[in-house]
Amino acid sequence: MEQSELLVRRIREGTVIDHIDEGMGLKVLDALQIDGSDGSLITIALNVPSGKFKKKDIIKVEGRFLKDDDTNKLAVIAPKATINMIKDYRLIEKRRVSLPNEIDRIFRCTNPDCVTNSAEKIESVMDVIDREGRVLRCRYCSRTLDVDRLRYN
Ligand SMILES: [Zn+2]
Repeated sequence: MEQSELLVRRIREGTVIDHIDEGMGLKVLDALQIDGSDGSLITIALNVPSGKFKKKDIIKVEGRFLKDDDTNKLAVIAPKATINMIKDYRLIEKRRVSLPNEIDRIFRCTNPDCVTNSAEKIESVMDVIDREGRVLRCRYCSRTLDVDRLRYN
C-alpha cells in the first residue's frame, strides 16, 4: 500500500479516486456533485506527495460508485485519475479513466446563441478534438471549448 493511502481513513464500500492532478480535487468534487449532503463519509486529500517532485489529490467517497457520466467528467477534468472500487474494505476493481471521442449532455456550450442553450432543450454533443490539451468542440455551433471554463448541465 502506498504511504499516501494511509493518510485518509479506509472506507468500507465506495470509491477512491486517486491520481487526480494537483489542484483539481475540488473541481472534481464540484463536477461529480459530491458535497456530503447525503451524509456519506467523504475524505479529501490535496497536494499529497506522489513520486519525487509531484503532488496529487485524492478523494474517497463512502457508499457511492461512479456512473458513466461521472467517469467521463473525470476523464476531462483529471485525465490521469484512477478509480478504485472498494467493497468490504477490499479493492475489487481499479481502472483508469479514458477520454471518449464525444461527450454528451454533461457540459453546457459557452455560446449563448447555440441551439443547445435555446428553449428547445437539445442536449449538448461535444467532440474531443485535442486529448492532451483537453479541447472540445460543440457539434452544433462548432465553438471550440476550453474544458476549464465549461459549466455542467
Ligand atoms: Zn454550441
